[in-house]
Amino acid sequence: MYSPTINKLIGILKKLPSVGQHTAERYVFHWLKSGKVEVNELRNALDNLLKNIKSCEICWNFSDFTPCEICAKKDRNQTQICVVDEAQAVAALEKTGAYTGVYHILRGTIDVGNETGLAELKIHELLERIKINEQLQEIVLALNPDMPGETTMLYLEKQIKQIKPQIKISRLARGLPMGSDLQYSDEITLGSALKNRFSN
Ligand SMILES: [Zn+2]
Repeated sequence: MYSPTINKLIGILKKLPSVGQHTAERYVFHWLKSGKVEVNELRNALDNLLKNIKSCEICWNFSDFTPCEICAKKDRNQTQICVVDEAQAVAALEKTGAYTGVYHILRGTIDVGNETGLAELKIHELLERIKINEQLQEIVLALNPDMPGETTMLYLEKQIKQIKPQIKISRLARGLPMGSDLQYSDEITLGSALKNRFSN
């Protein structure tokens, strides 16, 4: 039995992805033993995260600035928009060095059977961007090769074709194994999936 204060923090930590009861307990007792310095570091880092990080008004990436560093860069190719589910995918794709266009972060994928979730995704914002970008030539759909990713890509394809049928819509090459998570693919696999992207 732990004290209510300890239990409260364990409960909060358990809401984090991949953190269960045992991991949460380990964290809490680590902080109790490590004392004030580490706890203050963590508190400051979390404060700064809330204070400093903004949503890019163009691509919805998380950044210290808006527009973010990528959108603000003059040499990024504005004729290509690469659509990803989460901000971490941008980091993974940037590491490959194989892409010079700009991004759009949906902040999730379509959850079949949950219509309300659809409105939370930045799909409307993407379609608006596509409408007003006159230089646009290609949309690269770089979502995970799993059910939610496939569903989202099909939905986007339909919507984009309705607005601008002339735009090329491509997908990452099938080198990525079905069900794999793009964020954790190695740079070489991801880079070649990007280079060998295809359109129907
Ligand atoms: Zn941006």
